[in-house]
Amino acid sequence: MTRVATMTTSDRIPGGAIQPHVLIVEDEISLVELLRYTLERSGYRVTTTDDGEEALASVRDDRPDIVLLDWILPSMPGIEVCRQLRRGAATANIPIIMLTARGEEGDRIRGLDAGADDYVAKPFSPSELVARMRAVLRRIRPALTDEVLAYGDIRMDLVQHRVTRGGKSRHLGPTEFRLLRHLMEHPARVFSREQLLDAVWGRDVYVEARTVDVHIRRLRVALECDADGGPIRTVRAAGYALDTGVG
Ligand code: CA
Repeated sequence: MTRVATMTTSDRIPGGAIQPHVLIVEDEISLVELLRYTLERSGYRVTTTDDGEEALASVRDDRPDIVLLDWILPSMPGIEVCRQLRRGAATANIPIIMLTARGEEGDRIRGLDAGADDYVAKPFSPSELVARMRAVLRRIRPALTDEVLAYGDIRMDLVQHRVTRGGKSRHLGPTEFRLLRHLMEHPARVFSREQLLDAVWGRDVYVEARTVDVHIRRLRVALECDADGGPIRTVRAAGYALDTGVG
């Protein structure tokens, strides 16, 4: 995976010797200045642009560790910038957080569908954003280096391919392992069955959406999930999420 190279700088957050580079793509000047101030104080190197085309060029010239991307930009919508970054081999793995005034669930899903790693609705507090950035950088990195993913009492050792819950070793089939890994890399994010198929089985494989349900069921059995499936939550008419939310 190509993300490893990017993330070697990002694991120094906060206060490490290497400054992670954040690109802010936003046309609201006052917000840009506020973010620049906050992020520089948090140890980031900050570059900015108010234009989508320019953002794409800038990413190629000076690759950021993370991108903050406004939804509504003058020339090109943020969601299109996001899609184009995801399409480029060299830029496909750069973490992206979408910033937007839109709080609608549909827009949130569109943003995540386009490949954003997270979504922050305006207005937000700068400290909340910094926390979300750290979370994105942290949760992406361990998945791509020789480490352990943890969520609640579930631990995944990606090197030894071992899973425990509540300290007890769990046996997972290879598909369940990949499925759990994907959910643990993106906690609290709702994935449709189609998204899980793409991520876990691959885009070129034809598998029925129902297959996802079968493997989710096996995963829940292996992890001794609650009667309602928790912490692997079924989101009605949407899909699945690993979280402790009420739903
Ligand atoms: Ca805007």
